[in-house]
Amino acid sequence: MFRDIVGRKDLIEKLIAAAKVGRIPHAQLFWGPAGSQKLPLALAYAQYINCHHRLEASDGHDLGGLSSDACGKCPSCLKFQQLVHPDLHFIYPNNINGGTIKKDSRSLDYIGQWRELYQETQGEFSYQEWLEKTGIGSNRQALINIRDCFQILQCLSLKSSEADYRVIVIWLIEKLHTPIASTLLKTLEEPEPQTVFLLISENTDAILPTILSRLQLVKVPKVEEAAMEKFLLDSGCPGEEVRLLAQRSHGNLVEARMLLENNATRLTFHESFADWMRICFKADIPAIQAFAERMGSLGRESLKFFLEICLEEIQGCLLTGNHCTRWLNARNQEQTFWNNFSKYVSNRNVQRYYKLFDEAIYLTSRNAHVPTLLTDISLELCRILASAKKDLASQTTR
Ligand SMILES: [Zn+2]
Repeated sequence: MFRDIVGRKDLIEKLIAAAKVGRIPHAQLFWGPAGSQKLPLALAYAQYINCHHRLEASDGHDLGGLSSDACGKCPSCLKFQQLVHPDLHFIYPNNINGGTIKKDSRSLDYIGQWRELYQETQGEFSYQEWLEKTGIGSNRQALINIRDCFQILQCLSLKSSEADYRVIVIWLIEKLHTPIASTLLKTLEEPEPQTVFLLISENTDAILPTILSRLQLVKVPKVEEAAMEKFLLDSGCPGEEVRLLAQRSHGNLVEARMLLENNATRLTFHESFADWMRICFKADIPAIQAFAERMGSLGRESLKFFLEICLEEIQGCLLTGNHCTRWLNARNQEQTFWNNFSKYVSNRNVQRYYKLFDEAIYLTSRNAHVPTLLTDISLELCRILASAKKDLASQTTR
């Protein structure tokens, strides 16, 4: 429903106003950055135009600041919400070029996984997550193929069974296998009555111009900061952290959810990083060994996350040292540490830090022995810090 969409009220009101006067374009493209709820928004629209019991704010309904929305309770709404409406059809990348998984697949073969992933993520998932869900694997390419175009033609040949508007959603139209575009163009060119195509894209540059020119564009902007703050607060974010996480999420809901999930861990890892730098600064070998053993017991995924945090910490120090703190959105304890440590992270040695942590992330995923790896990194950190200390001393005596 529209009221489940975070922010972007102006855009939703425009969709509502157009629908109310019966201006329902035959083919629309919802496009915008990742994490901006394009798919849930397109589905809320599909549900709205098919709901017979729309609610109006003017009748006293609380619609989260919107003027109108679907009822969410009628049979049509319930089926749309569960993605099981017989007049709602989905097309998405599924076939791998030369792949072995379900060789002659089409979208319909994956409808179970599609519904499951949609429910698990409230409709906000990435192409990579989709490939993992289907078992295709995130390091392969999946496309919308000719059998998907036949699936569309088949849908169009059937009579719409119960809905006012039959809806065909094509997720990530930029993944359309180019040679088959003409088949799809024909259907977009010759509108069937009471049929609505809702296309979703994150990269309009990759859409064929012949297709793009036939679509009505609906630009979905990123989530506004105030709306993001409210979303975070409603999702259980501690009040004092709301502002910071809203800024760090950059209007991306997937990012916001991840930040919220990892917030406590991030704070712990910040402290671990600060401890690590202190013992390397003193070249305290027994403490380094204890640290390597302790962090070695984390598990690879957590350790990778810790090393990514290390990269962010170095960046924090570098920007602080260059007086660019206004881009950092830091907590007090982070900023205090960066203020102190930034003198050992300079434009001269920053590449050594980046290279060290980048390699460590790579080696962690390559099954390196973790305590040994962490000891090696620590020793290199001791060397970097020793030469930074020396540089600093020679600068002050000069
Ligand atoms: Zn309804």
